[in-house]
Amino acid sequence: VKNPSTDVFDIAIIGGGLAGLSLATRLAAPKFQHLRVVVLEPRTQYVRDRTWCYWADKCSADAGVNRSHSHPFQTSVAVRWPSWEVMCGVAGTPSYEVVTKTGQHCYEMIPADRFYDDAERLIGSTAHVKIMKGVTLVGAVDKSENVELDTSMGKIRVGLVFDSRPPATLSKAAWVQRFQGFELETETPIFDVNRATLMDFSITADADSKAGRVHFIYVLPLSDRLALVEDTWFAPVEDGCDDVDYQTQIKAYLKRRFGLERYDVLHREQGALPMDPELKPAKSSGRIIKIGAGGGMARASSGYAFFETQRACDAIAEKLSTQKILPTEFRLPRWRGAMSYWMDAVFLRVLKEYPSLAPKIFFDLFAKVPPDALARFLSGVATPLDVARVVSACPKVPFLKAAFFPR
Ligand SMILES: Cc1cc2nc3c(=O)[nH]c(=O)nc-3n(C[C@H](O)[C@H](O)[C@H](O)COP(=O)(O)OP(=O)(O)OC[C@H]3O[C@@H](n4cnc5c(N)ncnc54)[C@H](O)[C@@H]3O)c2cc1C
Repeated sequence: VKNPSTDVFDIAIIGGGLAGLSLATRLAAPKFQHLRVVVLEPRTQYVRDRTWCYWADKCSADAGVNRSHSHPFQTSVAVRWPSWEVMCGVAGTPSYEVVTKTGQHCYEMIPADRFYDDAERLIGSTAHVKIMKGVTLVGAVDKSENVELDTSMGKIRVGLVFDSRPPATLSKAAWVQRFQGFELETETPIFDVNRATLMDFSITADADSKAGRVHFIYVLPLSDRLALVEDTWFAPVEDGCDDVDYQTQIKAYLKRRFGLERYDVLHREQGALPMDPELKPAKSSGRIIKIGAGGGMARASSGYAFFETQRACDAIAEKLSTQKILPTEFRLPRWRGAMSYWMDAVFLRVLKEYPSLAPKIFFDLFAKVPPDALARFLSGVATPLDVARVVSACPKVPFLKAAFFPR
C-alpha cells in the first residue's frame, strides 16, 4: 500500500463495503476522469462475509437489460428465483398456510465475494480511482478549503468525503435483525431451485412473541442439493437475543420440513443488521457526507440495503456529473420518499406493540398484495397504487394507533 500522504485526491470514500464500492464503481466511469478518487478500506482482503438478496424487475437471463432499475454488478448475480413463498401457522395443523407468488420480478442473490471481485475489476480498469486496503480512518476535520483525514497511514487532504462507516450508535426506536445460518449440501435432491422460502413463521413459538421478538427461517435453494438457510430474529435494540440457539433451531426445522438429518455445511454466515428509523439521509452535510446504512440507505423495516444503495449511488453520481467544480456543500439527492421512512417507523412500532401479529401481518402482505407491487414497495420504488395496496393489506387498528397515537 502506498503512503496516502504523498497523494492528492478530490474525493475520498471511507469504507470499501457495499456503499463505498458501489459509489466508487460509478465514479470509475470515464466522465469522472477529471476527479482523483480514493477508497480507504481497513480490510486487506475481501472474503464472502455476506450474501445480498433483493428484488429485480423483469426476471430474465438478460442480466439486467431493459430493467427500470439496474446496477453494474450483474455478473455477480449467482441465483434468480422467479417465485417465492411465505408460511405461517403451526406445521401439520389446519392453521398452517403457505402463499406462493410469481410475478414480473425475481428475487436475486449476490454472494459478497463475487460483488467485491466485480467492483475491484471495474475500478481496477481505471487510473483515476484507487482502492487503498489496510487503511483505517481515525478522524476527519472539515476545514474551510478541504477535509483533513487522519488515517492509519498518515494525513490526507481531500475535497469531498463520502463516509460509509457503519453507524456508531442506534436510536432507542431501533430494532436489530439477527441471523445465523449456513449453506448446506444434501446427498439427494430435495430443494426446488425455482422457489425461495422468504419467511417461514411456522418456526415461531409462543415464547418468541411473548419475548417481543419476531422469528422466522428462510431457505434459499442454490440447486436441488444446495441451499442457504438462516434462522432470523427481529428484536428491539436493547434485546441482544443472547439466549437464542440458532443452530438448534435450524436443525429442528430441516428435520421437520425436509426430513433432513445429514448434510454438509459448506459456508457459515451471520449478521446483526440495524433496523433504525432514525437513520435517514442527512439534509445538509458540508464536505463530509454519510452514505451506506448509516446514511439512510438501509430499510428500517427489513435491514435490506443492496437495492437502495445502488439507486442512491446512481443518484449521487448523477448529481456529481452535473457539477463543474467540487461543491463545498453537497446535499444528498433524494432516492426514496420521506413517506416510506415514516411508514417503516410505524411498522416497527406495530411490531413492538403487537409482536404476536407479526407472522400474520407479513403473511397477509405476501398473500394479498400483488407480487410486483409488493416487490416495488419493499425495494423503495412503490407507486401510489402500490402503497395503497400495502396499506389495505395491513390490519387497520394497530397501524392507525402506531401512526397517530405512538406510545
Ligand atoms: C450477513 C449479512 C447478510 C445481509 N443480507 C442482506 C440482503 O440479503 N439484502 C440486503 O439488501 N441487505 C443485506 N444485508 C444488509 C446490508 O446490505 C449490508 O449490511 C451492507 O453491507 C451495508 O452496506 P454499507 O456500505 O453501509 O456497510 P458495509 O458493507 O459494512 O461497509 C462499511 C465499510 O466501512 C469500513 N470501515 C469500518 N470502519 C472504518 C474506518 N474506521 N475507516 C475506514 N473504513 C472503515 C468497513 O471495513 C466496511 O468495508 C446483509 C448484511 C449482512 C451482514
